[in-house]
Amino acid sequence: MKNTQFAVIGLGRFGSSLAKELIHLGHEVLGVDRNQQLADEMSACLTHMLVADTTDEDALRAIGIRNMDCVVVAIGDDIQASILTSILLKDLGVKKVVAKALSAVHGKVLERIGVDRIIYPERDMGVRVANQLVSPNLLDYIELSRDYTIAELSVTRKLSGRSLTELDTRARFGCTIVAINKKEQTVVAPSAEDVLEEGDVMVVIGTNEQIDTFERSVNS
Ligand code: ATP
Repeated sequence: MKNTQFAVIGLGRFGSSLAKELIHLGHEVLGVDRNQQLADEMSACLTHMLVADTTDEDALRAIGIRNMDCVVVAIGDDIQASILTSILLKDLGVKKVVAKALSAVHGKVLERIGVDRIIYPERDMGVRVANQLVSPNLLDYIELSRDYTIAELSVTRKLSGRSLTELDTRARFGCTIVAINKKEQTVVAPSAEDVLEEGDVMVVIGTNEQIDTFERSVNS
């Protein structure tokens, strides 16, 4: 997704962190917030920064928001402003609208409006942190579906020096190691002879249960 034009509306903690990361990843980001002081603080970090109330249709048109590839509505607390902004963006024909929801009801309304992707930062982060707390070797994960996950697991001392054949995760746990992140390089689609070392990170694909059982077995 190179040269994608993003707009982030609402530069609170979530919006500003998201906008800065998009810049870091090499994209162009237009920031929009109704707060002048905040806009002054953010203007140096982003490609463009504008002060506007995005619940005002004329203001949105004047910004040229339609030309953006993706617009993120990161307004949270003011649910009414979040919903109104999202409706206007969809009405104006913005291709991809992503919005932050504070609650399930807020999310449901955004879904009805036709928002393309709804994110629940607090809820999702709570779930993520809980998983990491109970599984200390779980560094990160992506849920592929309800049942399947890709997880990053740290290689403990117990696994150090063992090859993938010896480990035999597919037969013993049902999950597959699809990559090994080593200090110097990443081994994608590792072979049976590849050897794990303490400090490496395994990228594992499997059902939640398989990954959970494997994670519990790797403790040193
Ligand atoms: P966060 O949880 O991300 O820290 P926050 O609690 O600081 O957010 P929110 O109420 O979620 O604040 O709003 C985020 C930003 O959205 C604020 O900087 C606010 O000025 C901006 N904002 C709110 N309503 C509008 C609007 N109608 N038009 C433009 N910007 C808005």
